[in-house]
Amino acid sequence: MLDLSLIDITKRFGHVVAVAEVDLHLDGGKMVSFLGPSGCGKTTLLRLIAGLDSPTQGRVLLGERDITHTPAHRRNMGMVFQSLALFPHLSVGDNITYGLKIRGVSRGERRSRAEQLLELVRLPGIAERHVSQLSGGQRQRVAIARALALEPDVFLLDEPMSALDANLREAMQIELRQLQQSLNITTIVVTHDQGEAMTMSDLVVVMSNAQVQQVGPPLEIYRRPANKFVADFIGTSNLLPGRIENGGQAVVAGHGFEIARGGDGLAADSEVVVLVRPEDVHVLPGHQDGPNRLLGTVDFIRDIGATVEIIVDCAGEKVISMMTPKDRPAVSVGAEATVEFPTDACSVLRD
Ligand code: ATP
Repeated sequence: MLDLSLIDITKRFGHVVAVAEVDLHLDGGKMVSFLGPSGCGKTTLLRLIAGLDSPTQGRVLLGERDITHTPAHRRNMGMVFQSLALFPHLSVGDNITYGLKIRGVSRGERRSRAEQLLELVRLPGIAERHVSQLSGGQRQRVAIARALALEPDVFLLDEPMSALDANLREAMQIELRQLQQSLNITTIVVTHDQGEAMTMSDLVVVMSNAQVQQVGPPLEIYRRPANKFVADFIGTSNLLPGRIENGGQAVVAGHGFEIARGGDGLAADSEVVVLVRPEDVHVLPGHQDGPNRLLGTVDFIRDIGATVEIIVDCAGEKVISMMTPKDRPAVSVGAEATVEFPTDACSVLRD
């Protein structure tokens, strides 16, 4: 269980800055996701950790050891790529124990190790089978077993679920998380799927434009996004343009708002964005003026069983509310409605 530290890491490819001045400390034994849109530098950062690329600037530490210039095969890290890269001409068992063979481990020992690893990924008894005879999910597990065969200090996965269909992907996310917890191995998963990152991780590293935007546990990232990008990228958000009156108060669409967080230290008249998550927004029937309220017209109602989504048009601002069916207000499309934003749920974001 070794900690991993990235110190002031920058990677340039010619004029392209793929990763810019990243400082990151990851505790040993945790599961971490690198999350962000395409091209933000996630894979590059993973490859720098694996030793498949070297940084233009900065250092990588594994525990106390500086591994910045250690070649990939000396880092003791297991990696699963998006393509899985299994050897098509080898059996499942030989795929899994390929690295052990290179290390000179005997045939008998390799066979029993392959069986153990197949048990671990819930595919017992298929060591003799050909890789071409496996389903997508089974191949996925074989790739994981192969990466774990050399008992790596760090386990790295680059978009490991992207080839799987939605149901299987969800099942594999849970399985991978359980496997990681049982092995207690430091694991990093690159993904652009926020659900995947939220399901599997102890810690989410949100990236955009080659930089780390926020690092935190999934719920913290959701509840307390550091900026507008993170709020927009993670979950659904109401981002209301407003103006600060004093730290705890803002004006949104001409109405006074009490704000719980983020306004301190901002000068009066600063232009800001007020974040409120849809599940915190209450919709009331008719027009009922008051603090932290906007008046509008119901634009759309979607009843999806466990939740009811109501969109209210407040002078051009489309506000989304998600409520449980038992809290559903008596409103219909086209009716007047009031939207209430509880103070506790309002935070001011900076760009
Ligand atoms: P995706 O989710 O699409 O895989 P990503 O977040 O993993 O994206 P990277 O693959 O790390 O992003 O790429 C970051 C930036 O660096 C991109 O602009 C990419 O085009 C560029 N880049 C990556 N590898 C190279 C390379 N070998 N040569 C030149 N540019 C590269």
